[in-house]
Formats: sequence, structure tokens, C-alpha cells
Amino acid sequence: MRALSKLRAQEGIWMVETEVPTPGPNDLLIRVRKSSICGTDVHIYRWDEWAQRTIPVPMVVGHEYVGVVAGMGSEVRGFSVGDRVSGEGHVTCGHCRNCRAGRRHLCRNTQGVGVNRPGSFAEYLVLPAFNAFKLPDDIPDDIAAIFDPFGNAVHTALSFDLVGEDVLITGAGPIGVMAAAVAKHVGARNVVITDVNDYRLELARRMGVTRAVNVAREDLWEVATRELGMHEGFDVGMEMSGSGAAFAQMVSVMNNGGKVALLGIPSGRVDIDWNAVIFKMLTIKGIYGREMFETWYKMAALIQSGLDLSPVITHHYGIQDFQQGFDDMLGGQSGKVILDWES
Ligand code: NAD
Ligand code: ZN
Repeated sequence: MRALSKLRAQEGIWMVETEVPTPGPNDLLIRVRKSSICGTDVHIYRWDEWAQRTIPVPMVVGHEYVGVVAGMGSEVRGFSVGDRVSGEGHVTCGHCRNCRAGRRHLCRNTQGVGVNRPGSFAEYLVLPAFNAFKLPDDIPDDIAAIFDPFGNAVHTALSFDLVGEDVLITGAGPIGVMAAAVAKHVGARNVVITDVNDYRLELARRMGVTRAVNVAREDLWEVATRELGMHEGFDVGMEMSGSGAAFAQMVSVMNNGGKVALLGIPSGRVDIDWNAVIFKMLTIKGIYGREMFETWYKMAALIQSGLDLSPVITHHYGIQDFQQGFDDMLGGQSGKVILDWES
């Protein structure tokens, strides 16, 4: 089969011919139809410090996809060949305290598909059947292919009550703009998103935000108070840039008692004004991955109740043009990029 492999310990990703993997007794064999490129894949492509520490080479990477069940191990129940699936990319241990309590997203022994074990930039993927999510027929393939990052957005956005609240999202990357769309859909009042990249801010406008603010040239507090009439600050914050400056700005514009969820991954240590956190009595929650499998059910239901994510998918390529897709992601002038294995 064809696959995209991190073959060498240097910048790049390469198309290879490799063996179709064999499912174990509890695994599904999934024929991948469409892949989407994650920011994590871009880190692996660039071969940054995190990737060098984390990714064994050679390895097939990737973890955002939609596919069809093509085979399964002898112990698998509840799936049939031909079922359309996406999958949870965090493979959990099943025996730690949190796993046994059903809080799988808090597993301390998580292995990542396409990070610590072979991934889905391939014609076939082996995945524990437990991790597969059977897709309702009315979820289009393109949307199903981005369920993994959509799940990050949903997990973050649904961490706090948003109904009638004023929400700030820092970082209008694909996850930030999807979180903004979720916040609007579930009844937030003002959803303000910030970035320093005008392409991304335009994408956020197409996803229906109240106001997209370029913090390189505009004053966020002025926009919030003068333009939107929010005199006390934001009720809920979602940090989705990984930028320390963005997080600092968020803390400065939160109302007392505000709730902040942190998804963006900073590249190093970040300075926090702890006095502001304390005297504003903020609640801060770290977010990793998706809740298994509540987030997946919510994702399907949000799409089925009319949430439109289609503007976030900005580029489509056949798999042979994967390099173009990575170049678009590297340039920052894209939302989600979909690669089609059947082209
Ligand atoms: P992305 O890199 O595409 O988007 C981040 C955006 O933040 C960019 O558009 C960038 O221009 C913007 N930005 C930079 N500085 C800013 C500033 N000062 N103020 C406002 N915006 C600023 O990332 P993505 O794929 O949308 O993911 C969002 C973040 O979440 C990333 O940091 C990613 O590493 C992280 N992530 C975390 C998890 C998790 O489980 N915790 C999962 C996936 C991704
Ligand atoms: Zn565990």
C-alpha cells in the first residue's frame, strides 16, 4: 500500500510503498478514504525539537481521517465490513485509575496514532475497535475527516456553559475557528476571536464570529467595550494559539469569575500574571484531546443539528499532491487541507 512516512530525521515527508498492516484480535483494519493534515503533522514535517524527541523514524504518521472497515480481528463485535468510521487517535491503557473510572481522556499512558504508533496517512490503518467511531450517514466524508481536530474544539468549547456568555478565543487556526462556530451554535452572545494573520481572521468571519480582531493593529479591549458594549470583560476564554502573549492578553480582559480553557500548546514556559488570576478568581482548565466518547457523540449531534463547518476546509488534493498540501499548511494561508486517497 501507499503511505506517507517520516522516513528520515530531517525536514520533509515521503510517499512509500509498505505492507498492509495486520489487525490484532481486537483491532479493525480501516481503508482510509480521506486524510486531513494536522498542525502536529506540520511539526513532524518540520522536524522541530518536539518531533525529534517524540517520533521514531521511519514511521507512517497522520491521525485525521475518514475510512471504511475493511477487516477485523476475531474478538471484534459491533462492526461490519463496510462501516464508515473515523477514530479516536488517543489509544488508552484501560488499566490506570482514570481509564477504569471511564475517564479515558485522562489516561496517563496514552499512545498517539501517527505519533507513537503507525498512523493514518496510509491506504490502510490498524486501530483498536474500541477507538473507532461509527459515523451516521448524514455526516459527509470531508467533515468526518476533520473530526479529530473538531473534537479538540468541541471538548474545549463545551467545557463551560456558553449560553448568553461573552466568549474570547485567541488563535483563529482551524481549531479556534471551529470552536468559535460551536460557541455561536450553542448560544453564546458575543464570540470574539483574535489572531495576527488576516487570512485566518477572514476564515473566522466566514464561520460566523461576532468580531475577528487583528491584535497586531487593533486594541481588543477597545473593541470589546466601545464597539460591543461589554463593559466588564469576557466570561469564557479559550486559548487556541499557543502564544504566551495571547494568553497574557486573555487574562487581562477576562471578567471576575471568568473561566479559561487552555488548548494551545506553547513552545516553552509562559509568564502568567498570577495576581490577575487570583484577584479575578479565574478558573483555568487544561484540555488535551477529546473526551472518550462523549465528545464524539456531541460532534455528530452538532453537525446533525445544523452546525456548518464547511468553510474551514479550504484545500482539497489527491494524495499524489500531498507536498502541495503540506506547503499550504506551512505557509499559514489555509484552513484544513484534505488529501484524497481514492483520487
Ligand atoms: P494553528 O497553529 O493553525 O493556529 C494557531 C493560530 O494562532 C495561528 O493562526 C496564529 O497566527 C495565531 N496566533 C499567533 N500568535 C497569536 C496571538 N498573539 N494572538 C492571537 N493569535 C495568535 O493551530 P491549530 O491547529 O488551530 O491548533 C491550535 C492550538 O492547539 C495549537 O497550539 C496546537 O498545537 C494546539 N493543539 C492542542 C491539542 C490538545 O489536545 N491540547 C490538540 C491539537 C492542537
Ligand atoms: Zn489509562
